[in-house]
Amino acid sequence: MKIGSWFKVHGSRQKTILLAIGYWLLAISLSGCQNRQLYKDTQVMIGTFVEVISPDQRAAGIVFAEVKRIENLLSKYSPDSEVSRLNKSGKLITSPETFYIIKKSKEFWQASSGAFDITVAPLVDLWGFTNKKYLMPEEAEIKNTLNLVGSDKIILHNRDNMIEFTTLGVKIDLGAIAKGYAVDCAVNKLKQAGIKNCLINAGGQIYCLGNKFGQPWKVAIQDPQKDGFVDYLELKDRAIATSGDYEQYFVQDKKRYAHIFNPKTGYPVHSGVVSVTVIAPDGLTADALATTIFVLGKVKGIALAKRFPDVEVRIIEERDVSYRDTLSAKVKGVPDVL
Ligand code: FAD
Ligand code: MG
Repeated sequence: MKIGSWFKVHGSRQKTILLAIGYWLLAISLSGCQNRQLYKDTQVMIGTFVEVISPDQRAAGIVFAEVKRIENLLSKYSPDSEVSRLNKSGKLITSPETFYIIKKSKEFWQASSGAFDITVAPLVDLWGFTNKKYLMPEEAEIKNTLNLVGSDKIILHNRDNMIEFTTLGVKIDLGAIAKGYAVDCAVNKLKQAGIKNCLINAGGQIYCLGNKFGQPWKVAIQDPQKDGFVDYLELKDRAIATSGDYEQYFVQDKKRYAHIFNPKTGYPVHSGVVSVTVIAPDGLTADALATTIFVLGKVKGIALAKRFPDVEVRIIEERDVSYRDTLSAKVKGVPDVL
């Protein structure tokens, strides 16, 4: 395993301009040579833009259909999804897929000593991150809500795929793991259709399948302060995910509160990390691990990552960033049309 270094760019005044990550795909519609066409299509789904680039015209349709299928199953924003029905009733016989992803989530909870926890859903609601009406709750409200948090409150009945919550009011949010899983499912569908080369970008959750006309796919890490990139990655058959505090957050009293929570305190995490990028063989691992490392911070996070085979981690620390915008609240990356 390779644990990567920090992304830093030193400007003329030796100022570190380090930067939150947004992925810009370097692949463009045409490679420049005749008969080397790439088809590119984008759709709004799972609360973000899903972009597909492939020399095979069928790829985008296959990816969108599969991501939509997963959204219908796992989105807490869709009232009829299995996750929403489970959240409402506290007990549900689920499909094997929903059971699988909740089981995987519980495994990450165990592996991370509780840092990764899908039962943060009531906290995400309380702080206004679900409806995007951010607010600073009262201390007592946070304390009460913490009674509903903890994946030990999820009981898995293997025999019939039933999920049961031990406490009334417990809810789950798969926002930190299901995007990665959706991309994995889409990649499987592409392979089944015989499509060997494709790049999927679901709001920064990326998979590079095969190559681009014999060369690795190139993914760039964007400098959000100006046009341009801070680093490039060349990837083949790899998933990438980034978790950070720079897209969904609000600022109060000059302090930043972002959408990733410390399940022990009930507050948005401040672990000294600005963003974590994980490159892994599959999207689920990359997604869940990036969020977990963000919660754990650099030292514990890297120690955990070392337990996963073939994983690379890149971390930007707060101390590397000089520009931090602490004046205005904003949400980027989630389109207004939702
Ligand atoms: P990640 O770091 O991967 O995940 C952060 C998210 O995980 C938080 O937003 C929170 O929900 C949850 N979380 C916070 N703390 C923890 C923790 N300690 N452990 C585990 N989980 C934690 N958004 C919309 O606005 N509208 C939609 O219709 C919509 N539909 C969606 C459907 C699906 C199937 C999924 C997976 C997500 C959907 N989203 C929707 C959510 C949106 O895309 C999220 O912003 C996204 O999932 C967060 O991903 P990320 O990569 O930014 O951050
Ligand atoms: Mg994640």
